[in-house]
Amino acid sequence: MNFLEMLRKMALARKTMNKPTFNFCAGPAALPKPVLAQAQAELLDWHGLGISVMEISHRSAEYKALAEKAEASLRALMNIGDEHAVLFLHGGATHQFSNIPMSLLGQGAIGEYITNGMWSKKAAVEGARFGNVHEIDALSLDAEGNRSIVDADNWRRAESAIFTHYTPNETIEGMRFAFAPESKGALIADMSSCILSEKIDVSAFDLIYAGAQKNIGPAGMTIVIVKRDLFEKMSFDGLPKVFNYREQAKHGSMINTPPTYAWYLASLVFDWLIELGGVAEMERRSHLKSSMLYQCIEEDDFYRNPIATADRSMMNIPFILKDDSLNPIFIEQAREAHLVGLEGHRSVGGMRASLYNSMSLEGVQALVDFMRTFKRQFG
Ligand code: PMP
Repeated sequence: MNFLEMLRKMALARKTMNKPTFNFCAGPAALPKPVLAQAQAELLDWHGLGISVMEISHRSAEYKALAEKAEASLRALMNIGDEHAVLFLHGGATHQFSNIPMSLLGQGAIGEYITNGMWSKKAAVEGARFGNVHEIDALSLDAEGNRSIVDADNWRRAESAIFTHYTPNETIEGMRFAFAPESKGALIADMSSCILSEKIDVSAFDLIYAGAQKNIGPAGMTIVIVKRDLFEKMSFDGLPKVFNYREQAKHGSMINTPPTYAWYLASLVFDWLIELGGVAEMERRSHLKSSMLYQCIEEDDFYRNPIATADRSMMNIPFILKDDSLNPIFIEQAREAHLVGLEGHRSVGGMRASLYNSMSLEGVQALVDFMRTFKRQFG
């Protein structure tokens, strides 16, 4: 580095010293700062017990109260009725890719998988390890070469499928289903990257699952919301007890020690959401934040989002630069401007900005300002 470059870096560092860092990572993703601050404040002494919440028994009255409150908060946020059980399970959404077909694909049953991206494909591949899978490849390219979801009227359906599985928000491709597919069997959705970001009618779903590390809390826990009626269609014969949804529901997700700290952090995130106005407010913000970014991308051809307008995600927004060779410079300058986690998924390249609930409007504004400045410099 020469002397002038060093001066420039020092000036930039001074200018940005007090700037917050905005984290656009797709997951594990940013957690709300007030939640992290509260967790920090009570890390060593939770509720006056003189020890950390991490150190207490999951069977203690104090922890049980926390666990029940978290469930009640999630029920309130998503308007979940008693016909659904809510489970706080170990592991990632990937575990559910197996747990679902293991429970439902016995004796010649067919699982219908609507696939339009990497995660829904992975779910289908895993399903096929346990039984019959009917895949509906719903990804196509529109006239402009943008990825889009095939019109549902053109899907070749499996009439007798026991369930239909889909991924309302594909995290890597940045695609969103604007509708819930019709299903003659159980409707199952992997909501890992969109849960709590927009209102949904839970009663229309038989099973919803979501890994925690995007809109709920830290990695290591997955929430499953399952209609109790569905237990009747499941076969748990030969399954280890921890994979038995009915048993998990019966034992309050505590067949064994649950991921207690992740559950605790989720409860703080739920409190934070309720205080801000709940899912309706998150939906309003998601529309606003994503449209700010899409608008910036669309101003001219310097940036491009390769998804058909109707199928664009509000949570994960991939974009490519007209000139690929600028990618590393974009990432480096973004980092200097305290904007991190913008690298696109390794399979698609380019950039990706994830705008989960904890991403503020200020964060999106900072990104958009940076992108315009960058374009002026290199466009
Ligand atoms: N489904 C979706 C939609 C995801 O975005 C992810 C993770 N990014 C997964 C499943 C897999 O989650 P995990 O790594 O927690 O198993």
